[in-house]
Parts: sequence; structure tokens; C-alpha cells
Amino acid sequence: MIDKPKTFRHGVHPEEHKEQTEHQRLERLPVPDEVILPLSQHLGAPSKPIVSVGDKVYRGQMIATAQGFVSVPLHATVTGWVTAIENRHHPSGQLSESIVIASDPHSPQTLYNEAPIDWELLDKEDVLAMVQGGGFVGLGGAAFPTHVKLSIPPGKRVQYFFVNGCECEPYLTSDHRIMLEWADSIFLGIRVIHKLLGAEKTFIGVETNKWDAIKVLNDRIPPGLACELVPLVTKYPQGAEKMLITAVVKREIPSGKLPLDVQVLVQNVGTMAGLGDMFAYGQPLIERVVTVTGPGIRRPATILMPVGTKLGDILDYCGGLTDDARQILFGGPMMGTPQYNFEVPILKGSSGIVVFTEKDVRSRKEYACIRCATCLDACPVYLNPSQLGMLARVGRHEDMLELNLMDCIECGSCSYVCPSNIPLVQRFRVSKAMIREKQAREREAQQIEKEKTGSK
Ligand code: SF4
Ligand code: SF4
Repeated sequence: MIDKPKTFRHGVHPEEHKEQTEHQRLERLPVPDEVILPLSQHLGAPSKPIVSVGDKVYRGQMIATAQGFVSVPLHATVTGWVTAIENRHHPSGQLSESIVIASDPHSPQTLYNEAPIDWELLDKEDVLAMVQGGGFVGLGGAAFPTHVKLSIPPGKRVQYFFVNGCECEPYLTSDHRIMLEWADSIFLGIRVIHKLLGAEKTFIGVETNKWDAIKVLNDRIPPGLACELVPLVTKYPQGAEKMLITAVVKREIPSGKLPLDVQVLVQNVGTMAGLGDMFAYGQPLIERVVTVTGPGIRRPATILMPVGTKLGDILDYCGGLTDDARQILFGGPMMGTPQYNFEVPILKGSSGIVVFTEKDVRSRKEYACIRCATCLDACPVYLNPSQLGMLARVGRHEDMLELNLMDCIECGSCSYVCPSNIPLVQRFRVSKAMIREKQAREREAQQIEKEKTGSK
């Protein structure tokens, strides 16, 4: 039986705009002529190349290794030849060392080392080693290495495993289509991870604007798996980990703590599908589903494509941009980042490309804060965005820490509701970056001081 929809307090209701792609089946992009694979596309240390320019590489072959525990390897996403290892444009806006592969037009593009796996024989260490070896990161956007999240420190336990199928960002429909079309892969991933964690129960949280997916998954729960589908009210940011946990099991994560501190662990539904394919036949993370949509694209679609596919190639496949297209975002309109170069590649964590037209992005004049408190009512983590915004505007970044700036999940709900058009979340991102930079400089200075004292 499916319960009545649950939710969290606060949040916002932006228009969904999912109709362009939500009912279209997944498509597979033809193999691109070239892919660009940045060594840094996950949180943690970048991977380290183990191939050279001129090498022939095969789809699924490891081409860069993990550097340490908080890092993952990188695999060739097409069969072809390495043509360069050099700095290329990264979706973050910076240049980043990347492996460039020209695809072999005569290759059948079959998977390197494909082999059936008997996952029931794997022990915990095998599973964790496979997850890291497969280059897995969270596919919901944060790109945190999956094996790190699944490595439970001594003294901690996971009572509930959560699979996040909320996809609360407007326009995006990748997770929706994955849930409708790849239920078997999702449940294989869940069975392996549920067993690894020793969880009492797995919850799959899905917003009620995806009832078809709720029904499909509910009908396919494997016998014997303690798993429940939880419908959630369609509200932004329902897919944020803290909001999902609060809505389903009514546990609040204290400031500065993690879901594990309330005995919960969350993974994205797309990550589960990817892991399912790895535990079925050994496929590492070499491709992902991306929603390409928005009023500025001629043929919106949800597409399975190799990681490293260039933005320009994807737009061409979708019929190109409309004449009035003005802004391209990687990610959704609430948390996405604008792109300025058609050569940037899709990363492991890129879930969508949204193109807006002139009329959607007309710049809005900023006015002074009128202290209406609308942003306080919207903030899902109970911050005071108005006060934080005033401090950010005058550069008092350190003072913002006392107002718990670091708890801000950068959801953008405050900016969305602000009648004065104050770019609150953008300012909070800058403040956080400045604080982190200062802290890093201080750590470095302390280290140098320590080394000097030690060498005397
Ligand atoms: S919503 Fe905007 S105008 Fe209203 S209090 Fe917040 S920052 Fe000020
Ligand atoms: S302050 Fe941060 S968490 Fe709160 S609404 Fe704004 S962006 Fe979201």
C-alpha cells in the first residue's frame, strides 16, 4: 500500500516545466567524434592519467587512477585514441587537465572486459572496491565519491537507506525516465547496497508529479526486500537530503552534521541504476542520462550519452538552439551553472542542460531589502537569508558564520521568492568560497610555520 504524500516545512513551488520531456522515452546519443574527460569531475583529489597521447583505449578501460581514498578512477567512455592530455574548458568555468579521446569510427564500441558478476558472492570489501574501481560518484549533482559515502566508520550504523527519486529541480526529467525504464537496474543496485549497509529498510522517495514512476517501482519491489515507496509532495527542494529525511522519518540533522549522524544514508536513484549495471556485467561509470530542454532548444529530449560528450555535439543532436536562445545552464534553473563555451563536456555529475530565451533571462533590477521576511518563510533550513544577504553585500563574510552560513544548502529558494530581486544565493556562494579560501590559506600558513619550527 502507498501512503499519503509527505513533506517538510518551508520551501517553494516553482513552475515545473517538465512537460517537454517527461513523456518521451530515453534516447541514446550516437557515438561522438571526440570526448573530453576532465581528471577532476568529482569531489576530492583528481584522478591521475595512466595512458599517453597516441594510445588506443577501449570503452570502459581505466585511463586514470584514483589518487587516494577520496578520489575515483576515470574510464574511456568511447573506444578510440588518446589525442591530448592538456587543459581544456571545464563546466566550472576554469581550465582543467583533461584526457581527450578521438573515437574510432569503425569500432563496435563494445564494453572492455564485460563479464557477468555473481553479486551475492561479493563481500563488503569487494563491493566497496568495485564501487570505487568503477569510478562511481553521486549522479544527483554533487559528484561525491560513492564508495566514501558507503564506507561506514566504526561505531556508526545505517538504519534506513534512502533512494532519492525526487528530482525536484524544474525542467529535469532524467531520474523520472530512469525510474520508468530501468527499474531492474535500480533494484539490483538497491539489493547490493541494502545488504552492504545492513539497513533495516530502504525508502524510495519520489515526488507526486511522477505517480507513474511510483507505481512502476512499487510493482517491481523484489520479494524479500524491505523496501517502501514514499510519495512526497511536489515542492522544492524536496530532493535535498535533509528535506527528504525530515519528510520521511521526521529526523532533523543537526547543524554541521551528516545524515549518518541520524542513522540514514541517501543515494540518488540514477546512481543505483548505474551500480546495478556494474553489479550485473561490470560496466563502470562511463555514460549518464541528461535532460536537454528549455524554451531555447529546438528538440528537447532525455538522452543517454558518454561522459565527456561536448555541449555543442549535444545541442546539434537536439536540432540546435532557437534564434532567441540566450542562456545555457548545466543543471536546473534553481541550482544550475551558466555555460559560455560549446566545447565544455558533460561530467559524471551533469544531470541536465536547460536553455533559456531572451524573454526568460531579461535582467531584473535589484531593489533594497524591504524586510518582508518572505525569504525566511522559504528557507528549508531555517536561516535568515535577509540578514545574511545584508552582511554579504558589505563583505562581512566572517560574521555570516555566526548566522550558520555553512548550513545553507544553496537551494536558491530565497532568491526565487525575493520581491526585491536580491541575488541572495549567488552572494552566499561567493561568501562561502571566500571563507573556504581564507581557511585554506590559514591552514597552509600554519603548516609552513610548523615545518619551520620542526626544522630548527
Ligand atoms: S525576501 Fe528579499 S526583500 Fe524580503 S526580507 Fe528577504 S531579502 Fe528582504
Ligand atoms: S539561505 Fe540557503 S538554504 Fe536558505 S533558502 Fe537561501 S539558498 Fe536555500
